[in-house]
Amino acid sequence: MIPDFRKKYDEVVNRCEQKSGEGSFTDDRFWRHKLIGTESMYVIRILPNMQVDGGIPWVLRREHNINQNGKFVKFNCPQTLGRSCPVCSKGSELWSGAQNEMDKNIAKKHFARDCYYMNVLVNVDERENGENQGKVFLWASNMTLQKKFVSQIKDDKELFYSLLAEQGGHDFRIKMSKKNEDFPDYAESKFVAEKSDLAASEAEMEAILEKCYDLQESILDEKLFPTDQYMKEKLESVGMSLEISESSESTPSPTPAVESTPKPAVEKPAAEPEKTEEKKPEAEEKTEEAPQEEESFDDDLGDLDIDDIDI
Ligand SMILES: [Zn+2]
Repeated sequence: MIPDFRKKYDEVVNRCEQKSGEGSFTDDRFWRHKLIGTESMYVIRILPNMQVDGGIPWVLRREHNINQNGKFVKFNCPQTLGRSCPVCSKGSELWSGAQNEMDKNIAKKHFARDCYYMNVLVNVDERENGENQGKVFLWASNMTLQKKFVSQIKDDKELFYSLLAEQGGHDFRIKMSKKNEDFPDYAESKFVAEKSDLAASEAEMEAILEKCYDLQESILDEKLFPTDQYMKEKLESVGMSLEISESSESTPSPTPAVESTPKPAVEKPAAEPEKTEEKKPEAEEKTEEAPQEEESFDDDLGDLDIDDIDI
């Protein structure tokens, strides 16, 4: 693992430097939905993950996005790979010792959130004169949309069966409208009922599927996950502390693939996740007793969303 990591080091650092040099950290493999003005609409086709049995399109990655007094730190949570995470552990510890709302808010900063990544074909996106239309991208669904997928599939088995079909499948319409200053409304986002083909010919369909990114390599590769030492340094860089075990401290260089972005707070985009009102009180109650259920707060981490995450 380490020799492989070292081989990748220059490549990863170069990529980060190039991007941070421009003041923003963009990666053209990724497409994002964003609320522009008071209403935006996009149509995407979720593509199957051809590398897994059944083609389930998305993979889950847990991510830390910490906003400490306007300074942002982000990195992927090693729990995604089944490893322990000192940041999550600290969050749980702080949560169980929390005496008041302020303590709870400090604890929540340490929690990771679930992000679902998949390949999509962008069918409608009027931004930039439609330049993204007809192209395949990686896309991160937020919790609100992910819940919509699941509830719609649950209610409609037929839809589920044909969802990913190259012929007679279904597009997904992302409709965003302005709900309040912080959170757009996704209520009208859904899989469209009308069936459609992925492309006009089999050759085109095949070409689209061939353009899909390898989710394992792009999203879940070991090199995209930080060492404990890296997380400690990142937290310290924004004035937060983190205890790590001695064996972790001797771990070789941190992974810069998930470098924090020197992004000013004013860049916070409009496309925040919808807060899930009905879930909140329950989550509060549950986590009072069971702080290990920190994922209940995914929608409530507030300051950052997938749309804020530069990958
Ligand atoms: Zn974590």
